[in-house]
This record gives sequence, C-alpha cells and structure tokens, in this order.
Amino acid sequence: MESTRILLEAHEIPTHWYNIAADLPSPPAPPLASDGTPAKPEQLAAIFPPAIIEQEMSAERWIEIPHEVREIFRLWRPAPLVHAVRLEEALGTPAKIFFKYEGVSPTGSHKPNSAVPQAYYNREAGIKRLTTETGAGQWGSSIALAGQMFGLEVRIYMVKVSYEQKPYRRMMMQTWGAEVFASPSDLTECGRRILAETPDMPGSLGIAISEAVEEAAGRADTNYSLGSVLNHVILHQSIIGLEAKKQFDKIGLYPDMVIAPCGGGSSFGGIAFPFLGDKAAGDKRAANLRAIAVEPTSCPSLTKGRYTYDFGDASGFTPMMKMYTLGHDFVPAGIHAGGLRYHGASQLVSQLYQAGLIEAVAVPQLATFDAGVQFARLEGIIPAPESCHAIRVAIDEALKCKQTGEEKVILFNLTGHGHFDMSSFERYFSGQLEDYVYPADEVEKSLAKLPRFG
Ligand SMILES: *Cc1c(COP(=O)(O)O)cnc(C)c1O
Repeated sequence: MESTRILLEAHEIPTHWYNIAADLPSPPAPPLASDGTPAKPEQLAAIFPPAIIEQEMSAERWIEIPHEVREIFRLWRPAPLVHAVRLEEALGTPAKIFFKYEGVSPTGSHKPNSAVPQAYYNREAGIKRLTTETGAGQWGSSIALAGQMFGLEVRIYMVKVSYEQKPYRRMMMQTWGAEVFASPSDLTECGRRILAETPDMPGSLGIAISEAVEEAAGRADTNYSLGSVLNHVILHQSIIGLEAKKQFDKIGLYPDMVIAPCGGGSSFGGIAFPFLGDKAAGDKRAANLRAIAVEPTSCPSLTKGRYTYDFGDASGFTPMMKMYTLGHDFVPAGIHAGGLRYHGASQLVSQLYQAGLIEAVAVPQLATFDAGVQFARLEGIIPAPESCHAIRVAIDEALKCKQTGEEKVILFNLTGHGHFDMSSFERYFSGQLEDYVYPADEVEKSLAKLPRFG
C-alpha cells in the first residue's frame, strides 16, 4: 500500500497567512469598550504590539509570514497530513478519513503556530517581556518556547489547581526558561485582593488573565499574549489549513468535511477557514464543503449560547466582542478537555455560524474518550482530550457514510497528543470519568447578567 503520510518539503511551508475577514458576507461587529462605544486601537496598545493590532483589525486577504517565523516553523513544520486507513478499515466505511497532525510541535499541540509570531512581533516592537495565563499549560508552554526563541522573558500565571495537579507542563515552561507562578499570586493587585478575601482560592482562567493583563498594562517593557479567540490568533493558525490544501493537491483529493474541536476557535478556524476561502472564491470543489466545529456538551457556546456582546474574560477586563456566549461568569464543569472550557467562541467563528456558513455539534465527554481510545489503538497516536472531540465526530460522519455508501473525504484536526493528559485516560479506564448534562439553569443565570449592547 502507498504511504499513508502526505508530506511537504520545508520550502513548501506557506509564505502567507489567510485572513477570512476579507471574505465575510458582512463586516465584523466592532469590539466595544465597557461604556458601549467602539474600542479604540490605543486601548489595545498598552498590551499588544502594533503589528498584532493591525492584524487584529485587518481585512487584507493574505498577510506575509515573516522569514524568521518560517525559519522557526521549520523545526516541526510542515506538519504531516495522515490518511487514517486503519481507522477506515476498522469502521468499514467507504469514506476516506484524513487528519492533520499538529502534535509534532515541540509542545505537542497547534498552539506554537501563534505563539511564535506573537513573540516575534513583540521583539520587533522592542518589548522585553511577555505575560500570559495558562490553565492546563498548553498555551503557557507554547509561549515559553516562543519567548525563548526570540530572547524574551516570559512570566506565566498558571491557575493554581493546575499548577499543583499538573506539574509536568509547568516543568516544560521552566525548561524553556519561563517563570511560572500559581494564580492567584501576590505579584499583582488583583491577585493580592483575591488572596486577602479567599486565601485558599484554587484560581481560574479569568483571574489568571486579569493578573497577566494587569502586569502587562502596568509596564512599558511588557506585553500580554493570548492563545486563542482573537482574530490575529486565528490568522496565524491558518497555516494548518493552507498546508493541508497543498497536501490534498498532491494526492488529487479535496475534503467534503473539515472537522475540529472548538474552544476559543483558533484550531477550528485554522484548519477550516482556508477551505472556506476557496468556497468564497467560487472554487467548485468547495461548493458543498461542510465545516464542523465540535464542542463539549458541558460548555456548548455555539450550540446553546446567545449571539450577543460579552466580555472575553471572567472579570470583565477585555473589550466586549459580539460572539456566541454562555455568559462570561459561567464556570464550565471540570471536563478533561481543559482547552475547550471557554464561555464564548471567537467572533469570526461566531459570525460564520450565525450566517449559516459553518456547523457546530456538541458531544458528551465519555463518547469522546471512546473515540480517542479507538483511534489510538488503530492509528497509534494518543490524542489530547480536546482532539478526541474532533475524532468522535469524524468517526460518526464516517459511519453515516457506511449507511449511505457515500465516499466522502473527511479531514479533521488532530490538534495535539495526549501525553500529558494520561491521568484523564486513567480515569476513563477506571470508570471514574463522567458525562455532564447541559447546565441549563446556570447558563440561564449567567446570560441574565450579560451587558446589554447590540
Ligand atoms: C487549546 C487546545 C484546543 C482548543 O483550541 P482553540 O483554538 O481554543 O479552539 C484544542 N486542542 C488542543 C490540543 C489544545 O491545546
């Protein structure tokens, strides 16, 4: 049998990112300040470098990837596209299943695709230090790596429970030279206030964001960086779909479906938007393309949320964005796919969903682990719990093809490996992993507190 891995040469790493803002059916709704007026670029300048702000607001279709960034990408890119033949055979489906494997990066996920350019643009702007927050540590480790590559100091506020329970990613960050603090910490006003009120507070992503932003806003040499949700992050992640398109060209195929997990939306937008760009350009192969975002039933921002203005963080620090949201103070259940526990979805993904140009589906936790273990036993790679969401839906769609006899081409984003999530698999095997029902009451309560704009 021919090779199941479709590879590209280093010189085939894309030279430009694709920006879907150029192809939206209507202009995006502007971010709003807390008084309801459009947020001003100056407000962002306290924490982001000019190139990032420009990308955040850009409607240019193609944006050049800096040479130095592509040089670093060569450490692990181009990422392989893999034809999952053993999975197909086991399912007995006529569908063809492919996955783009982002777990080959040094941190084991797609997140360095944005961490590297973010560190680059900050260094170019004369910034010496970066702050960020991290939960389980996927983003923190990526920014630690990227900061090291460009000679930036990195300080990471890691949610205290994860800091204590997930020591290995903390050690990875330290290996790449970052300082890691348990949040809430006594390094910021916000952290000190919370510690004074609740000394044994386990922390949350919202609090960690507030600490990282407070520090960046208060120091001229320091900026903040965010790992998903924002337009520039999705722009950077478009490298995933752009490479996949080249790989499909090599074998003369084109996907009918593109599937990805959806937390903030950068891994979904990253793989799906370049194909949606073909559709917008009238490419016949993409005429019936389905792009499917997969979220957990316990945190179903697209499928159950409201499309309205809300804050990006729990404490109401960020500008408000028009997006599908469960309410910024909604606290999702402690599912093991930590990267999917976000109360909203990126505004680009939200706008496309509202316009009916993409689909979304919510899946329960246990079924995602069933799929992940089945996948690991056939294809070898142990997937991250987030990635298991995409695998679940890819398998479900392949089984539908078995019913109808359709030979659809399915592409999914294998966003990362699960080597640092083995305790989740342990819980799955010992029967301790549970499904959470959709918390309708809590979402209702949280939505009732939304700011009233738009
Ligand atoms: C962060 C993460 C996700 C979620 O990505 P978003 O861009 O926020 O949707 C998915 N998979 C892995 C492995 C992650 O680390």
